[in-house]
Amino acid sequence: MWYNYYCPVCKGQLRVENSLVFVAKSKTSNQKGLIFLSPELGNYTTSKHPEFGISEGEEFVMYCPICHTTLNRKENNNLVKVFMQDQDGKEYEIFFSGIAGEKCTYKMRDKQVEGMGPDVELYKEYFDVPEEYKKYL
Ligand SMILES: [Zn+2]
Repeated sequence: MWYNYYCPVCKGQLRVENSLVFVAKSKTSNQKGLIFLSPELGNYTTSKHPEFGISEGEEFVMYCPICHTTLNRKENNNLVKVFMQDQDGKEYEIFFSGIAGEKCTYKMRDKQVEGMGPDVELYKEYFDVPEEYKKYL
């Protein structure tokens, strides 16, 4: 199955071959680098240059490599959002954690959320709250 992933702001394609590419910047160490994620939802394999050291629990800001927009949500900085389009042209909002080691993904369409990953409970609350209250979280 071939899914396209794109930036919510510039609509630039983030998937190249079998990876999603982001610019990641650590909030703690200020290190910056390219990170490649699997386009398969629920697969948390990542790749990066060995000099770009990442430790468990480190918080990252993810940027679109094309327009450099911050992809972390304002309402919850731990969550990163991109758009996905499936083979039928259906669009989904995909959220994942920007914290190293947290394995959770949320797929949203028409207010229906499908969570996956061993850490799915972490941000469940965020998706249970009606849109108008999210800014208070
Ligand atoms: Zn962009």
